[in-house]
Amino acid sequence: MKRRRPRIVIIGAGFAGYECARRLSRQAGRAAEIVLLNPNDYFLYVPLLPEVATGILEPRRISVSLTGTLPGVHLVLGTAHDLDLDARQVHYTDPEGRAGSLSYDRLVLTVGSVNKLLPVPGVAEHAHGFRGMPEALFLRDHLTRQTELAGAAEDPEERSARTTFVVVGAGYTGTEVTAQGVRFTEALARQNTGLRHGPRPRWLLLDIADRLLPELDERLSRTAERVLRARGVDIRTGTSVKEATADGVLLDDGEFIATRSLLWCVGVRPDPLVESLGLPTDKGRLCVDAFLNVPGRPEVFACGDAAAVPDLTRPGEVTPMTAQHAQRQGKAVARNVAASCGRGTPRAYRHHDLGFMVDLGGIQAAANPLRIPLSGPLAGLVTRGYHLMAMPDNRVRVAADWLLDAVLPRQGVQLGLVSSWSVPLDTASPEVARVPGGAQGGG
Ligand SMILES: Cc1cc2nc3c(=O)[nH]c(=O)nc-3n(C[C@H](O)[C@H](O)[C@H](O)COP(=O)(O)OP(=O)(O)OC[C@H]3O[C@@H](n4cnc5c(N)ncnc54)[C@H](O)[C@@H]3O)c2cc1C
Repeated sequence: MKRRRPRIVIIGAGFAGYECARRLSRQAGRAAEIVLLNPNDYFLYVPLLPEVATGILEPRRISVSLTGTLPGVHLVLGTAHDLDLDARQVHYTDPEGRAGSLSYDRLVLTVGSVNKLLPVPGVAEHAHGFRGMPEALFLRDHLTRQTELAGAAEDPEERSARTTFVVVGAGYTGTEVTAQGVRFTEALARQNTGLRHGPRPRWLLLDIADRLLPELDERLSRTAERVLRARGVDIRTGTSVKEATADGVLLDDGEFIATRSLLWCVGVRPDPLVESLGLPTDKGRLCVDAFLNVPGRPEVFACGDAAAVPDLTRPGEVTPMTAQHAQRQGKAVARNVAASCGRGTPRAYRHHDLGFMVDLGGIQAAANPLRIPLSGPLAGLVTRGYHLMAMPDNRVRVAADWLLDAVLPRQGVQLGLVSSWSVPLDTASPEVARVPGGAQGGG
């Protein structure tokens, strides 16, 4: 009797899942059936999302086709909502709301993370997060719309509120969104007759920490702060939000900022699917060993943002939630899964951080590749070069958009395809998970 090929099911096609599927399809070839379960048919290159939100890149540039670039991998469109580890079954809902299930011999859990919420009154209702494509498309329209409404408003207070943008969280997401956002709204305001004589767009970047980019090297913080201040950004460190309303935000020092735009970039937490497994977690991330294997479950592996992977280069710590680690862990997990099926030998995950790049828009960036601190145009060049190399596809299209942006004005039009209600801050709530193609995870 012909032996059935082992079926490897990968849940989530982000940095870790995509890389795992790509490696496995090369390593395991026809010896295994590789199934990739993801809500969308694309891998999202998240680090360039702020450029989509601010009109530099068109959305499909950073959306890499899964079927087009992963030959031999069977794509199943759907969102997993229940894993039966004893029966080795994954239960999911497809984009048309139909239920489905997949059995597996090996499972790789790479579901990434979702927006982190804090219990601040009004934030869930009035703030928007920044984690996936729907949020980026919403934000691009929103910034354009607010600028246009401000240009048409008679009331100076309304004009001022509509041209005030508040970003909470000065990690790399909040810092990049602010850096790109201020350039975008300045460009929109210049094109708007009603705003020729002011007010200028005003951006505030708040963080409870005492510096920007608190999780990164201090030299990157200093560069980012210098660039943002030169663009007129009002940076408030040691500050947080006490309450959000439809008309503005109340800060913890008692100041009220009138605004229609509150962007919540306070960080991410692992996808709640992980918590639902009832297995040991570390700050919500699934505990795995250095081989990316779930202890006591030799057939289950996990990595990326969703897993607490021991950092062998910093004993006692887990690897940070970055694309750099997720992508390399995807490669490592593919090797170890193949080894568990009898192909090759397993290897513990070990990776020394290669540094970080924060794109500040224009020709500016703050970067420390291989721990060498860079700023200005050189950092900008290195950052863009790195992104082009790291993207699995669409490089020419991305480079072409960058070139066009350098010589042409930004396009100030809103298409209105993504409405505010469809991008709530709590992307992990059951209501959103039920919306077909909802903003779950990389959305
Ligand atoms: C705006 C922004 C900028 C960033 N910039 C950088 C940067 O410059 N450098 C850097 O190193 N890191 C950066 N990061 C962090 C980086 O993007 C993450 O660490 C990385 O994406 C984690 O990869 P992952 O594979 O674990 O998860 P993800 O890339 O988030 O992928 C998870 C995948 O799982 C899918 N999924 C989720 N739930 C389910 C489910 N229930 N069923 C099926 N599929 C599911 C999602 O749709 C998604 O496709 C940035 C993040 C953001 C938000």
